[in-house]
Amino acid sequence: MNAELPFFRYHPDPVATGSVRAGNEPCDCCGRSTGWIYTAAFYTAKDVAGSVCPWCIADGSAAERFDAEFTDAYGLDGVPWEILREVTHRTPGFHAWQDPRWLVHCHDAAAFIGEVGYTELTARPEALEQLRHDLRMEGWHDAQQLERFLTHLGHGASAMLFRCTVCGTHLAYADAS
Ligand SMILES: [Zn+2]
Ligand SMILES: [Zn+2]
Repeated sequence: MNAELPFFRYHPDPVATGSVRAGNEPCDCCGRSTGWIYTAAFYTAKDVAGSVCPWCIADGSAAERFDAEFTDAYGLDGVPWEILREVTHRTPGFHAWQDPRWLVHCHDAAAFIGEVGYTELTARPEALEQLRHDLRMEGWHDAQQLERFLTHLGHGASAMLFRCTVCGTHLAYADAS
């Protein structure tokens, strides 16, 4: 954790996930060199690179100024509008091969923990079990093939791990490269 960074309820350690890195470039929004630069998705129609500082993400100024979103609303079903806005407009997005999806638990957006492989998932058995269940629902009927896919997570495909901000349970989805 970097104590000097603003706190993001739905993305508690954006440095660990690679969404924010150390850098002296000035922020496209406030013009300051804060020492930290955002690196993940920045959806805007405006002609701007989206190298913004974490503070301009946290206070919503980057989203407002560039009419931008850091993640789209995909996956954020059934959460109140204010939470949807906080995730899409005031929370760093993350790097993914496919379109990032934000997971929901206990009617709240979950906190993004990071991209993980099978080993990390086995340390969160509830996330592994939920992922196995979801993949079955998505049509993985061959149990052996499914287990092979799961045990190979971290090599090519990986899992995006979240933690419920309400009950603390871990959940994940698979991101294929
Ligand atoms: Zn800034
Ligand atoms: Zn929960």
